[in-house]
Amino acid sequence: MNLHFLNSGRVQMKKKIFVPNLTTDEKFELPVISTYINYKKTNILFDTGCHPSVEINAFERWGGLSKIMKPINMNGKNLITELATIGISPDDIDLVINSHLHPDHCGCNEFFKNAEFYCHEKEIQSANHENANLMGYIKKEWDLPMKLKTLNHNFDVFDDSRIVTINLPGHTPGSIGLLVNLEKTRFVIASDALSLERNLDKEEVPKNAWNPQLILKSYEELKIIKKSGYIIVCGHDDNQWKNNLDMGVIYN
Ligand SMILES: [Zn+2]
Repeated sequence: MNLHFLNSGRVQMKKKIFVPNLTTDEKFELPVISTYINYKKTNILFDTGCHPSVEINAFERWGGLSKIMKPINMNGKNLITELATIGISPDDIDLVINSHLHPDHCGCNEFFKNAEFYCHEKEIQSANHENANLMGYIKKEWDLPMKLKTLNHNFDVFDDSRIVTINLPGHTPGSIGLLVNLEKTRFVIASDALSLERNLDKEEVPKNAWNPQLILKSYEELKIIKKSGYIIVCGHDDNQWKNNLDMGVIYN
């Protein structure tokens, strides 16, 4: 098995959304991360980042959301260009698992024509809700004519405990994370169940969380997983991304 973390976008947001005690309107940059895993001759993605077009015209694709979450400093990089650097074309992808269906996590889904998609059933319901656009969902990002498997419990993808989805609701109703057991390293990829490392230490609930109680419960679950030896990969922590995730490193 090997794993790469891939740069699949970059956005600017108000910091106080993630650091609730902050009183200033200061903005900060957030990395958008996808994970590529090759295991048992299967090419897997966990999340697909931002659609490449948002670098040029985010409003056209995201509407008003592009004002809250503004693509910045992408420098021509997106999941498709980053996969190319490791020799993978979109048609090579067999399986896409979406942590949830916000457009910075499923924006490139449309490129993976040969893939089967996994997503939690509560997330599909939530993204189909009549007020879904107010919850940050954009239908054209995820509602595609692809093979879709809905999950409702923790799912062991190969039935060997190596790659397992875990329910981590709170950011959205159907948010999931991914446990990946490599030979030498164990990751729990939390996506937006934990946006920033500091949120876990300080038990901070970002203002964009759908259900604060549930996200705090998911933090407890993540703390237990961390204690058992997993590295938590946060959804949007630039410090972790730049200093600890070793972009370009192949984990195996
Ligand atoms: Zn996100």
